[in-house]
Amino acid sequence: MSDLAARLLRQQLTDLVPYESARRLGGDGEIWLNANENPYSHSYELDDSRFGRYPEFQPPVLIDRYAAYAGVNNKQLLATRGADEGIELLIRTFCEPQQDKVIICPPTYGMYAISARTNLVDVVNVPLDSDYQVDVDGVLASMESVKLVFVCSPNNPTGHDMQPEKLRQLLEALKDQALVVVDEAYIEFSEQPSVLSWIGEFPNLVVLRTLSKAFALAGIRCGFTLANEAVIQQLAKVIAPYPVPEPVAQVAIQALSDDNLSAVTEEVAGLNALRAAFAETMKPLTEVFPSSGNYVLFRVPDALACMKAMADAGIILRNQSKQLTLQNCIRVTIGTEQEMARTTSALQAYFKEAV
Ligand code: PMP
Repeated sequence: MSDLAARLLRQQLTDLVPYESARRLGGDGEIWLNANENPYSHSYELDDSRFGRYPEFQPPVLIDRYAAYAGVNNKQLLATRGADEGIELLIRTFCEPQQDKVIICPPTYGMYAISARTNLVDVVNVPLDSDYQVDVDGVLASMESVKLVFVCSPNNPTGHDMQPEKLRQLLEALKDQALVVVDEAYIEFSEQPSVLSWIGEFPNLVVLRTLSKAFALAGIRCGFTLANEAVIQQLAKVIAPYPVPEPVAQVAIQALSDDNLSAVTEEVAGLNALRAAFAETMKPLTEVFPSSGNYVLFRVPDALACMKAMADAGIILRNQSKQLTLQNCIRVTIGTEQEMARTTSALQAYFKEAV
């Protein structure tokens, strides 16, 4: 009987591997710098008087505040259970299973491919070029049956911003053909402006955002999909009936208050300073990728040995070796000053041994 679930499982999912995270695997560590979380925490108040009622489909104050923050109108966004739900929703709304395809540009964030696969949508890989930029010609040459093109900027895990001219070229070329999804989960850490100001110009532009990173709210699962109103209307047909739980809306609304926004801006600047300091310390030791996110990717002689040495020191990082071209690359999330100091000295000790 124990194999009932395995026998009932949709046939196409038999070799699917769940999204990997050290926490899910039950690893133990003292310093968790593996999931691009933000070490800060703020206090929020909850009013439980409405917990007995279904929440609003899209809580109006939340929508108004995020629209104002993002510089769009309140019909141009949908609040979701993290940006991850936005990815899934786009695929479910626009891609015909076993027929349509999505393009992803590896090395990049893993959930685009996982969501596509679980929805029986094929993934076409158009690798980033040698400067870790979108290969625009490569994408345009691979558009057969493609409805969605996922581009991540700043890209996770490499850290690069995608050049705006390339994004523009892609949007222009695909204007009547496909949606270009620009995942801006880490945009607050970047000096490059958001592409959101182009929303009026490109009916095919979709932007993904989240409160998990700069806002330090990964635990509440709140993200936003932003696009032209016509796109949002289609997504709204497919999303679950009450997608934003009441406590999530309450916290997110407070997170988007003016006071909190200025605290976030300061914290982001602090994390960016720690990122720069970490990169400088590592550069004499190894190849360090430039980063516009709250993480830094670097290469080591042996990623498994390095992960083990770091785990022995109580520090959990993320091995990116399975990603195209990233063999022996490890990503560190920028944590507190103390966490970074411990991480840096543990890495220095590892390099001393390894080289
Ligand atoms: N996009 C990228 C590039 C990410 O790295 C992540 C989180 N790791 C997400 C989206 C999903 O974020 P959320 O927590 O909002 O689901």
